[in-house]
Parts: sequence; structure tokens; C-alpha cells
Amino acid sequence: MFSLVKEDGNARVGILKTAHGEVETPFFMPVATRGVGRFVSAEDYIQAKVKVIIANAFFLSLTPGLEMFEKRGGIHKFMHYPGIIFTDCGGFQMLRENLLLETTNNGILLKNPEGKDVFMRPEKLLEISKKINSDVIMALDCVLPYGRSREQYLEALQKSHRWTKKCKDLHSGEQLLFGITQGGTFEDLRESSAKAINAMDFDGNAIGGVGIGEPSELLYKMVDISIPHLNKNKPRYVMGLGKPEQIIECVERGIDIFDSIYPQKNARHGMLFTFSGIIDLGKEIYKFDELPIEQSCLCFTCQTFSRSYLRYLLKKDDAVGKRFLTIHNLFFMQEFMRKIRESIREGKFQEFKKEFLRKHKKMN
Ligand SMILES: [Zn+2]
Repeated sequence: MFSLVKEDGNARVGILKTAHGEVETPFFMPVATRGVGRFVSAEDYIQAKVKVIIANAFFLSLTPGLEMFEKRGGIHKFMHYPGIIFTDCGGFQMLRENLLLETTNNGILLKNPEGKDVFMRPEKLLEISKKINSDVIMALDCVLPYGRSREQYLEALQKSHRWTKKCKDLHSGEQLLFGITQGGTFEDLRESSAKAINAMDFDGNAIGGVGIGEPSELLYKMVDISIPHLNKNKPRYVMGLGKPEQIIECVERGIDIFDSIYPQKNARHGMLFTFSGIIDLGKEIYKFDELPIEQSCLCFTCQTFSRSYLRYLLKKDDAVGKRFLTIHNLFFMQEFMRKIRESIREGKFQEFKKEFLRKHKKMN
């Protein structure tokens, strides 16, 4: 399941064991909502050293549908990805795409863009997740947008806890199940949610409903409030964070798992992450530049193409170009997390953090 290997302050290295192998924490997982990453394949993930991805159980249950997973023996075989796969019901994604129609004490009414609306209850989520056969199931939770009233967050929290408990009671088998805490930006709600979810004794605990528009300082505060109440011998996951500076701040506080579309989305717009700052590939200065995005990078893109050619593809809005740029940012995130783990092992996390942040803020 999960074991701690090394601690440096509150930052820690651990190992998460699942039915499809084990992975070292802290790690970052890219988002493959519908069983495919945007512009990248499972093979690209493997090349970019991505060991874990997260998909959305609701969307997969609509297309390709559960019959596909039953007949093809689960998601790993179907998408030809041997790594670890998390699935969630994407509370925030549902909000963003206006698919969340209504919540009751028993579950959520979700808009099906392809047909009849679906009422998602804990029983259904577990049944779907079993057929998809992901390695880690995120329990059903109730997310609200940023900036609602305390009463609204409290009501959502109570629903969330009810659904989460139901997931826990119904769960069986070798898939891992993680609970999700909520509470908006209210300190007392965050604390009571962390305590309640922790007491349900899941395989891991996630902090949900953050990184959705609140200022970073408020995000860190909510993490600070939650952490002391989340069992240190279980993996801790802050959902939806992909900015390197936010990841490193949360690792410092004792978080082990991250996911986001952020690095991929930035890549597609020509914003490339490097260890000496962010490169805005659209700039004129890269027009004839024969160097790779990052000279020390071992990703397929940097080993093969120049900034000049990649910039040309970016300006053409070319799909293959988007794939190459995405591969670099995915690889960067894996390298970034590997360096974080290395620094914790050596007891040098603080030095690494300081040095990384000093350079990363630079825009090139
Ligand atoms: Zn690269």
C-alpha cells in the first residue's frame, strides 16, 4: 500500500503499491480524462517516464462504455498503458464543463453530453470503477466553485461525507480507495472535513476543491489546516495542482500526489518549462534558434528538434507540433519530481526548493 522511505522536514519520499506496480512519491500524474491524453499516446507517456495517469470514470462509462472494459479486460489493456491509473469523477471538471446539474443526499445528477442524464451515486461509481479496473478510485465528492457562502460549503461537505462513507462501506477488492476532503476556504470546515475523512480510514487522503481560483496563499493555508489531521502513514494528495511552484510548496508541507492539465495546456500554447525558467516559444528570438528547448533535457523532443522548428509548428498550429511540445513538459514534470525526491533523500530539500524557485520564475 504505502510506506514512508525518508523525511526531510515535513517533505517525504514514500512508495505507493498498487495492482499495477509501485511508484515513488511525491509524484505528478498527467490527466487522460477519456483514456487518452491530449495530443499524446500511452507510448508517449512511457517515453516521458510517466508512471501514473488519472482518467475520469464518468466519461469512460459513457464512451467507450462499460461493455468495452468488460470485453477488453479493463482500461490498462484497452489503452495499452502498463502504468498505474487513478480514476475520479472529476467534480471540478464537471463544474467547469457545466455538467453538474444537481446534488442530493444520495448523489449527483450529471449531464450526459451524448444522451440521457446520469445520476451518479456511490454504488454506481464503484460499479463503474470496478469494470474500468483502475488502480486507485477517488471516492464520490461534492465540489462547489470558489467564493460561495459558508452555509453552502457546509451543506456540500455533509453530502460529500455521506457519499464518501457509503463508498467506503461498499468497497471491496484490490483496488485502492481514496477519500476527498472539502470545505472551501473556511478553516473550521477544512479541519472538520480532514478529521472526518481521515477517521474513515481510506488507503489515501485527498484535499479537494482547491486550486479553483483562490489565491495561492489561501490554498497553502487550507493545506496547512488539513495536514495535521491526515494520517502521515497514508499518501496525501492535493487534487488539481500543476504549477511547479505550487507543487514544491505543497511537497514542503507533506503532500505526496499531484495531478493537473496545466503542464500540457501550457505546452500547447508554447510555454515550455525548463530548469532555468519558462520559455515562451512564440517569441521572435527563437525564430532561427537551433538549440533544443532545454539542452540538458533527455526527452524525445529535445533530443530531436530545434526551437526553430518547434516554433514553426507552433505558429502553424500543427497537431504534431503540439504533441512534441506536450512531450517535453510531461518529461519536465517527471524530472522535476525526481529531483524533488532526490533532494529529500539527501536531506537537501530546502536548498533545492530555493534554487528551483529562483530560476523557475524567470521568463525567457
Ligand atoms: Zn525536453
